Amino acid sequence: MPLSGFTDYHVHTPLCRHAQGWPLEMAQKALALGLDELGFADHNPMPSLFDDWRMLREELPQYLASIEDVRARLPQLPIRLGLEMDYLDGCQSWWEELRSAASWDFWIGSVHYLGDGFEVDNPKYLSRYRDQDPEEIWTAYWARYEECIRSGWFDFMAHPDLPKKFGFVPKGDLRRFYEGSIQALVDTGLAYEVNTAGLRKDCRELYPARGFVALAKEAGVPVLINSDAHAVEELGAGFEATVEMLREVGYTELVRFEAGRRISVPLPASRRAEGAE
Ligand code: ZN
Ligand code: FE
Ligand code: FE
Ligand code: ZN
Repeated sequence: MPLSGFTDYHVHTPLCRHAQGWPLEMAQKALALGLDELGFADHNPMPSLFDDWRMLREELPQYLASIEDVRARLPQLPIRLGLEMDYLDGCQSWWEELRSAASWDFWIGSVHYLGDGFEVDNPKYLSRYRDQDPEEIWTAYWARYEECIRSGWFDFMAHPDLPKKFGFVPKGDLRRFYEGSIQALVDTGLAYEVNTAGLRKDCRELYPARGFVALAKEAGVPVLINSDAHAVEELGAGFEATVEMLREVGYTELVRFEAGRRISVPLPASRRAEGAE
């Protein structure tokens, strides 16, 4: 099976209004790819209408039921339940409520919003990148990202260098942006994902860049590989190249989650390595 040994834990559902492929279709694709586990992490609901790219609060039961249904239909595939959580101020009591609403396997910490409603990855705000020095946007983003890590609410962190999405990147050595967040990951014991969605965006690069991965490896920060699939054909995309990059950087393990518990597993062999045998 092409992707045995892998999991994909960052997968969306049509409830977020910008994804295609209901959980059953995703799960059938996961079985066809040979993934060991599939995890859903749709954009978290908010207590009241907030933006147009997440499930409504009233739709949470449907999200949970759609995943329960797939678990019942395809018992051979372990399915993890998560959310991609937007790190926003003033949400603590809502998060408490949400936390007790289901048996979550993991929550992914995510920074899409900076101050004043600016969404770093929404093309609606592209003019911000043209008008503002990327240095400023990156500085604000990484400060927020570090805060998100240190908040203590999440199990692993999503797409670390997301503001490079449209290709606007500050000049010089970017490690100055990574260091604070990597220290925060070390201090809190959190993992981060290498998210292959970046390969499909203007930046044409994994989130995060290899420079981040190398520093994180050196610091002993655990990693997992996710696709951020918003469509069935994106599931597991780019995993082979990613595992090879992780191996080159020195990683020997990936992590998985079950009921908030982190489990280490050996880095799967890449297809190229198998072919060489
Ligand atoms: Zn999305
Ligand atoms: Fe995201
Ligand atoms: Fe996502
Ligand atoms: Zn995402």
